[in-house]
This record gives sequence, C-alpha cells and structure tokens, in this order.
Amino acid sequence: MQLSQRITGLTGGGSDGWDVFLKAREMIAQGIDVTELTIGEHDIRTAAPILQDMHASAMDGHTGYAAVPGTQDLRETVAARVQARTGVPTTAANVMITPGGQAALFAAHLAACDTGDTALYIDPYYATYPGTLRGAGALPQVIETRAEEAFQPRADAIKAHSKSARSLLINTPNNPTGVVYSDATLQGIADVCLADDLWLISDEVYDTQVWEGRHLSPRALPGMAERTLVVGSMSKSHAMTGSRCGWIVGPSQAIDHLITLATHTTYGVPGFIQDASRFALDQGTHFENEIAEPFRRRREIAAGILARQNTVGLVPAQGAMYLMLDVRATHMTGEAFAYDLLEAHRIAVMPGESFGSCAAGHIRVAMTVEDSAFSFALQTLCRHAEARAAA
Ligand code: PLP
Repeated sequence: MQLSQRITGLTGGGSDGWDVFLKAREMIAQGIDVTELTIGEHDIRTAAPILQDMHASAMDGHTGYAAVPGTQDLRETVAARVQARTGVPTTAANVMITPGGQAALFAAHLAACDTGDTALYIDPYYATYPGTLRGAGALPQVIETRAEEAFQPRADAIKAHSKSARSLLINTPNNPTGVVYSDATLQGIADVCLADDLWLISDEVYDTQVWEGRHLSPRALPGMAERTLVVGSMSKSHAMTGSRCGWIVGPSQAIDHLITLATHTTYGVPGFIQDASRFALDQGTHFENEIAEPFRRRREIAAGILARQNTVGLVPAQGAMYLMLDVRATHMTGEAFAYDLLEAHRIAVMPGESFGSCAAGHIRVAMTVEDSAFSFALQTLCRHAEARAAA
C-alpha cells in the first residue's frame, strides 16, 4: 500500500550526518566503550522527589484522562513563571500543556501555517525542525547564518524570504550552536515579523541554561505577544526528558484553537506527569540552577582546554548544553572529523552538517558526561585535531 507523501517525505531524504551517531550506538551495542557526546540528555536522572511526587499523584488516582489543555494548576504555574521571567501579562488562558516541546513545535506550526505555506527556520537548526515543518504541511525555507557572525541571524537575510512566508522559527539559547541571540538580533527579528505579518515561533526550551548575556523572550518585545508562540519544556530545565511535558504560550485565541487540535491529536498529557511537573516548577530557580550547573562547570573546563591550543575554534558558548567547535583547520568536513575521531579514539560527537550546511566544518559536543571523562575526551579531541591539521 502506498503511504502518504507527508510521511514518506518527512526527512527530505539524503545523508544528514546522523550516520556517525548510529555507528556510535552500534559500537556501544557491541560492547565497545564509547564516550558519547552526542545527544542533549543530562547525565543525571530525574530527581527522586519529583518521581516521588509523580508516584503519589498516580497512587492518588491521577491516572485517567487529564484535562486536554493541561491541568489548571500546571497552566497557572507555567503562566506565573513566564510572567515573572518576561514581564508579559500571562494567564492560564495563554498556556497549553503538550507532550514535550517537540509536540509543541508541531502544533505551533499547524496553528500558524496552512498546507503549502512557507515556514522559515534558521540554519544551523535543531535536527527535527525541517521534518516538523514538512509534517505540518508547510514548505520549509532555510535562513542562513554565518560562523563568522557567531550564527546570529541577520534581519536582512530573513527579510529576503519573509514577504511570502507565514512563520519564522527561532531557538535561543540555541541548539546546536550554544549561542544566545542578542537583544539587537531579536529586535531585528521582531521588526521583520511585524513588517511582514509573520508568526514567530520561539523555541525557548534552554531558557534556564544561560552562561553569558541574558535570555530575552521575544514575546516581551513591543507588539510581539499577539504574534508569538513560545515553546517551553520540562525536559532540559528539570532533567525530565522522558516525562514528555512541555507547553505553548501564546494569545488566548490561538491557545483555544490549539486545544481543539490537541483534542483531535494528543488528547493531553498524563495527570501524574503534570502534577510532578508542577511540583518540579515549584522548586524554583535554585533547583533549575542546580540542574544547569554541570553544564556551566564543563563549559569552564572546556574554555580552559581550548585556550591552550589554537587548532580547534570555539563558537561563543553562551548557553545550552553544547559546544560548537570549528575544526576547519584540519581541512576535514565535520562529518569526516567525527568519523575519524570515533574510529581513532572512540569519542562520538555530532557533525555540524547534521544541523544544516552553515555548520559545515564544525562539530557539536554535548557536555553530557561527567567532568573528568568530559575533560579527557576534549583534550583528546584537540590533540587529534592538531595531528590532523599538521598532517
Ligand atoms: N527544541 C530544541 C532546540 C531541542 O534541542 C529539543 C530537544 O533536544 C526540543 C526542542 C524538544 O525537547 P522535548 O520534546 O524533550 O521537550
């Protein structure tokens, strides 16, 4: 039987650099000891008190269908947190709870775009973006950025495609680059959205991981609250990746329609997961800082190691749990370097090319193994790059 174009064409085909990751997983399955610096997942598990709360909620009977928009408690907690962090008046009516940020990204594009509408996104990008846009029926149009400009998107590059587009997807703090968009970048983006009547879909799942500068939610910029859909998640901020709990924050009229969509797709998020998420959010910023701390620490370790050599370049590591390293001095592609490193030293990193052509000649290192293994792997990586550059 023939399957739909929508599903068979989701990834767009072609090699996307994920082969290195699959090879590393294959080696691990064969019992080979690989240092995995690939996936954005904490090296700690969800904290015990959160799991205890989840268990208590489930034992209390919160195992039936939960309210589709999310529990009132969690929606209010998310709204209060967003308002406190951004200053933008936000109530439960502006929030819908989703099964993770990924489902929120998909729903947001379904809300913003009709079939065949152009949806803009920025290269380098989180790997699921183009497929998410295609899955929602939109035509993905990439906006390029430059390594030399620390991958900050330029308003004129967006402007070149914005006239005929319906939405723009951005992500700050950024995966894969680790860059935090400056206030000027975000104002430039907002100006284009206002001038050309675009929805801005702002993926802020790393908003608690900021090492330099500040995270500005573009929803807080003048005129933007009515055209911005913010995507948030418990995954990165609270080490709850497996719980699948996220949200969309936006105008209440958009949220109303998104609730109708959820009724016909996900039918909400389990009540015990939502209760535990509320409990986790109630632990406040101190807890969020604790979860972020290992990445802050490893970023410092990395800065020390990288400062002692001049072959591998570091893209300003301002936020999120990744380092984007420039390995162009080796004259290898990011993909070739990643393969070579895996074979020679059993260290797995992601080729920049897996996140779009703008990150070619780069590799992404996830800071997700304990400090001494991380430090050793990064030193080995630098020595390897030096040897390749000299060859
Ligand atoms: N957005 C970005 C930029 C991500 O890196 C991720 C996960 O790695 C997600 C969204 C999806 O996160 P989740 O669905 O776990 O909330």
